[in-house]
Amino acid sequence: MKFKPPDDTVPLLRMTRQRRIILEEFHTPGRHPTPDDVYMRIRRKLPNISLGTVYRNLEILSQAKLIKKLRLGCRQRRYDGGLHRHYHVRCVKCGKISDIPADSFPDLDDTAKGHGFKILGHQLEFEGLCQACRKAGRSQKGR
Ligand code: ZN
Ligand code: MN
Repeated sequence: MKFKPPDDTVPLLRMTRQRRIILEEFHTPGRHPTPDDVYMRIRRKLPNISLGTVYRNLEILSQAKLIKKLRLGCRQRRYDGGLHRHYHVRCVKCGKISDIPADSFPDLDDTAKGHGFKILGHQLEFEGLCQACRKAGRSQKGR
């Protein structure tokens, strides 16, 4: 099965069984797994796959624009199956990531126009403390 790319800047992708199973990990919205997360979850279906192959296929799938590589402030790279325009908030304590809808934002690329640059994109990440970490912080103080 050949996957038809969204535009002609993207190379044709051979949809192997491995890639299909990796891609299935991104059907649940709101998850932002690291390559290790994906590796651990697909091992039951693909017992012989190596972590390196998972890394390589995630890269290929993101180049084919079937998933998005996130460049967030966290140490390990993460991938996102949500291809719509949205932002992320990351817990600085535990690394939990949530989606922030972008509908309420103006087009930030427009904001940056007029500085002699052709704007190709932008990155925006919110930082915070998730509910669980805030709760844990409070109970520690109470001790
Ligand atoms: Zn947290
Ligand atoms: Mn996301």
